[in-house]
Amino acid sequence: MRRYLIAGNWKMNTTRQEGVSLVNALAAGAQAASGTVDVLVAPPFPYLIPVVDAAAGTGIVVGAQNASPEAPGAFTGEVALDMLIDVGVTSVILGHSERRQFYGDTDAVINRKVIATRKKGLQAIFCVGELLEERQGNQTEAVLDRQLAGGLKEVSAEDMADIVIAYEPVWAIGTGLTASPEQAESAHAHIRKWLETRYTPNVAKATRILYGGSVKANNAEALLSQPNVDGALVGGASLKAADFLPIIEAGVKLSK
Ligand code: PEP
Repeated sequence: MRRYLIAGNWKMNTTRQEGVSLVNALAAGAQAASGTVDVLVAPPFPYLIPVVDAAAGTGIVVGAQNASPEAPGAFTGEVALDMLIDVGVTSVILGHSERRQFYGDTDAVINRKVIATRKKGLQAIFCVGELLEERQGNQTEAVLDRQLAGGLKEVSAEDMADIVIAYEPVWAIGTGLTASPEQAESAHAHIRKWLETRYTPNVAKATRILYGGSVKANNAEALLSQPNVDGALVGGASLKAADFLPIIEAGVKLSK
């Protein structure tokens, strides 16, 4: 049985105090969910340390939104995986569409980051998803296949044990447009089939596939109840406890 993961991607938002307050406001809900639903928040780099401190003992896992695949050294402006480990980060979001679109994260770059992340023992939340024109051109599955093959190139079945895939149709991110539960399920089922072919039935069965793209309190249950949807990667609605907690609670309800 795959456990739901509800992950909040704060992107380039919050102040330090807002981030800490948000974790404090999530703590009771996350504690109630713990053992049933995994809860993760991914703050901006400067707030990782206070957020890790605030999350201690709550069951909330703290992730980063990106990482360098390089060892520490002369890479101005980058953050090494060793540094994330040093401050208590255990998970990294990789290949988010905003990184693909604005920061040159190609499939090959993402692949290096996934391999480096797993080599260091951190969880990778690896994002894939099609553009609107690709969906309209019936290219969704081909795009997913290409991103999966590129991002997971030479990634072993053993490494898949701590890789989470996030299906995030780009047209649904931050737009208020959500994939219908049927659209999400169809893409997730395709990704699972791909994992079965590329790896093994066991890897396909065990890998969590999150949906991301305008997940809110009012659509979370319908999306999470799809058989191949194992959680949510949430942007906008992860920035307020009143919006994020009901998404966690939807996961708890469906886990019973
Ligand atoms: C995201 O950034 O991963 C995301 C899904 O954002 P939103 O929930 O705001 O669409």
